[in-house]
Amino acid sequence: MMRMTVLASGSKGNSTVIATHRTRILVDAGLSCREILRRMNVAGEDPRSLDAILITHEHQDHVQGVAVLARKLGIPVYFTEMTHRAWVRWLHPRKRMTYAEWLRQRQQGSATASENANIPVAAAATTVIDEPDAELCEAASPERDPAALPAVAYFEAGKRFVVGDIDVEPFTIPHDAADPVGFVFEGDGVRIGFATDLGYMAANARQALRRCDLLMLESNHDTEMLRDGPYPWSVKQRVMSRVGHLSNEAAAEFLERNYDGQAAYVILAHLSESNNLPALARVSAERALCDRMSLLANKLLLAEQDQPLAAISL
Ligand SMILES: [Zn+2]
Ligand SMILES: [Zn+2]
Repeated sequence: MMRMTVLASGSKGNSTVIATHRTRILVDAGLSCREILRRMNVAGEDPRSLDAILITHEHQDHVQGVAVLARKLGIPVYFTEMTHRAWVRWLHPRKRMTYAEWLRQRQQGSATASENANIPVAAAATTVIDEPDAELCEAASPERDPAALPAVAYFEAGKRFVVGDIDVEPFTIPHDAADPVGFVFEGDGVRIGFATDLGYMAANARQALRRCDLLMLESNHDTEMLRDGPYPWSVKQRVMSRVGHLSNEAAAEFLERNYDGQAAYVILAHLSESNNLPALARVSAERALCDRMSLLANKLLLAEQDQPLAAISL
C-alpha cells in the first residue's frame, strides 16, 4: 500500500508526504519547518518517521523549510547537483564563495553522498517531537551555515534511484529553475505521478506519467484570468511561457489527449490564488475527463494551499 498526503500546494508553499508502510519521503519543504510539522500532525503523519526529503527545484515555495527541517529530523536531502548549487548560491547571496569552496568547507562537517547511494541517516540528530511549537525549529543563528544539512544525496533526471522500498524516477520538466524535475514513485505495486511547476506538457513528462494509479498534476491558472489579472506584464509573460506554469487549459488538454485514464485519483495542484478559481480548474478537468469518470477511476481532488488534503491510500 502507498499513501500520499498533500500538506500544501500553491505559490506560497508546497510539501507532500509519500509513504509505504516502511519508507516515508517528504517531497519539497516549501513551508516553514514549524508549519510543516504542524500540518503533519494535523494530517496524522509522524515527522519522526520521515526517511528523506526530495526537492523538485530551488524556488522558495519548494525549499523554504528544508534546511531547518532536515537538521531537526537528522534526515538526508536529495537534490540534483544543479538544484543544490542553485539553492546554496541563493542562501549565500553576498558571499563570494565558489561552490567548490563551499563544498570543501561543508565536507569537513557533514557527509556528502553520491548519486544512487543509500544514505545513512546522520546519527544522534533525531530529536523527539511532541508538539509543533517554537522550540522545534531553531531560530536563525548568524554563525550557522544556512545551507548545512545532515546529509546530501544527488540524483539525476532520467536515472531511477531508491529510497528504502520506494522506487523514484525523476524526470526533467520545463520550468525556469536550474534543473527542475517531476517524479514518479513506485512502491508496493502502486505508481504515483507528480508533475507541478511546468510550462507545458513535454513529451518526456507525458511518457513518465503513463500507468499512474495516482496523478498529481499542476492546474495553475486560468489563461483569461491571468491575462486580465493584477500581475505586471513581465510576470504574466513568465507564468505563461514555456518555462512557467501549466494552465487549466493545458492540463485539460493533457487529460483529454494524452492521459491514459488509469489513475484512481487525479489531484489538481499548485492552483494560483490570484489567477485561478478552484471551480474553474475543476470544471476544466472534469470536462476533459468526462467520458472516463467512473466509480473506480479519476476521482478528482484539488490540493489546497492552506490546509492538508486527507491522506489517500492505494
Ligand atoms: Zn512552485
Ligand atoms: Zn517553481
